Amino acid sequence: MLVKGNFRTIVELPKYVDVNEWLAFNTFEFFNHINLFYGSISDFCTPQSCPCMSAGSGVEYTWVDASSKKIKLCAPQYIDYMASSIQNMLNDETLFPTKTGRDFPRDFPQLVKRIFSQLFRLIAHMYHHHYDKIVALSEEPHLNSLTAHFISFAKDFDLLEKKEIQPLQELVDIMFKTGIIS
Ligand SMILES: [Zn+2]
Repeated sequence: MLVKGNFRTIVELPKYVDVNEWLAFNTFEFFNHINLFYGSISDFCTPQSCPCMSAGSGVEYTWVDASSKKIKLCAPQYIDYMASSIQNMLNDETLFPTKTGRDFPRDFPQLVKRIFSQLFRLIAHMYHHHYDKIVALSEEPHLNSLTAHFISFAKDFDLLEKKEIQPLQELVDIMFKTGIIS
């Protein structure tokens, strides 16, 4: 995931590839990479260190369960619920068809948007609450690279609202200014 230069060329829809296929492939890849990255620091994300799922002061996320009930969870539990729910969606043949001839659901881009919102929250949580550990492990180039790729892709396919990006706005601005993303 370490890419030098600009991400535009690798997020663009390749010729002859269906846009939903491209969204599905990238959703799968981002989920796995972000999840794997979190795994490398998850020992430091505990109910004690992170009693709520936050991304800086004043930004708290509440988990909404299948019956639309809002539940306050500590960060590791929120992230666990999130990862399971995304994994279940990815495994669901009616949502992410893998067999040829199967159609994507009509609201597929909306579904991808919801997954990207959740993954963004996880990235923002790691930056705001675990960055010192990430630096201590010398993993920040990977996280920066992964985030630049993720933001670049989300921007190209309109997957994140401007206000959702707010917790990482400063970082995103720097990435634009330095031309890592465009
Ligand atoms: Zn945490």
